[in-house]
Amino acid sequence: MEQLKHKILTEGRLLDGFVLKVDNFLNHQLDVELLDAMGAEFARRFAGVKIDKILTIEASGIAVAAMAARHFGYPPVVFAKKTQSLNLDADAFETEVYSFTKQQVYKVRVSRRYLKPGERVLIIDDFLAHGHATRGLIDIVKQAGAEPAGVGIVIEKGFQGGGKLIRDAGVRLESLAVLKSIADGKIEFA
Ligand code: 5GP
Repeated sequence: MEQLKHKILTEGRLLDGFVLKVDNFLNHQLDVELLDAMGAEFARRFAGVKIDKILTIEASGIAVAAMAARHFGYPPVVFAKKTQSLNLDADAFETEVYSFTKQQVYKVRVSRRYLKPGERVLIIDDFLAHGHATRGLIDIVKQAGAEPAGVGIVIEKGFQGGGKLIRDAGVRLESLAVLKSIADGKIEFA
């Protein structure tokens, strides 16, 4: 998606050769017009695919998923929670996710109320790196007896291998921008 690539090139910042900071339009401040265009692009790419629900993970996935929902006919958006909560834990699907950026394992949970057997679920997130977060969400969808209808990612870091794992698992992946490399202070797209 050219508009997104331009934004990454002009406003993204590189940290330590592995992390792309996009706080000014995706991870802290939000560019709502761009988010809306991303939602339209996801809808274009997944046209004809039946989607009952969109699943994402807090926090940065929520805005992307909610804006995307506008273009998919307003299916419910569910976000996996990272924080513990007594009333949720008793009745939730749960999986463990390793965070490369934080170097720790954390649990994510979705209430059993909001994912049902047979539902076709589109998974949306801001970044795909090694694929831990996305695979955690796929695991939760499968625990519910629902079906992953596809994965939509804003920025895929193609050099960290997560995309291959998702595709090898037989799930359709659509990334709006795929980074080939962010080494030596230079951003290259695939
Ligand atoms: P994965 O689980 O695929 O290894 O990593 C995906 C998650 O890690 C994303 O949800 C995002 O929060 C975070 N992440 C990984 N790489 C980056 C990066 O380069 N920039 C930002 N802003 N977040 C990242």
